Amino acid sequence: MHHQQYTYKFCPVCGGHLENKNIKEQEPSRLVCKDCEFVFYLDPKLVVCSIVEVGDKVILLKRAIDPQKGKWVMPGGFVDRGEEIRKAALREAEEECGVRIELKDLLGIYSYGGKTEVVVVYIAEHKSGDLIVGDETDDARLYSLDEIPWQELAFQSTVDALKDYCRRENFSRKEYERHL
Ligand SMILES: [Zn+2]
Repeated sequence: MHHQQYTYKFCPVCGGHLENKNIKEQEPSRLVCKDCEFVFYLDPKLVVCSIVEVGDKVILLKRAIDPQKGKWVMPGGFVDRGEEIRKAALREAEEECGVRIELKDLLGIYSYGGKTEVVVVYIAEHKSGDLIVGDETDDARLYSLDEIPWQELAFQSTVDALKDYCRRENFSRKEYERHL
């Protein structure tokens, strides 16, 4: 779900060399083509995840790939360019663990300084389909809130979203914070 950092050397328009240049004061430097002056803006990457409720439990998936192989995440992934974000959430849940879901609410939006990803997290309800283990996953399980493996969650956004969800569900702070 998370993207590795690449260094771009060549202009995607003319193939000329890119250089780091400050084009506006107080903005980060940009990659600018030495030949055609094309400015290669590196934008955030949009990720959508869902906390999928199945009764009083939620679905977590154990990652089979890096980064954070072996750690647990909610179903989710990158939103394609031009794709409606809510549809991306439904698509990812079905691709990653075989379930059809209905989105209930927006839980939150998570972003961190220096990180490329902006993670949008919905709360969703399981509609149909048995939980399966998809290509990018080693295991798929239902966890009640007092069983969440806080030490083995994949990303800061996974931890923060699940904390916000626990708060929202009025799950006793003590019970989950002692695991952090
Ligand atoms: Zn160029």
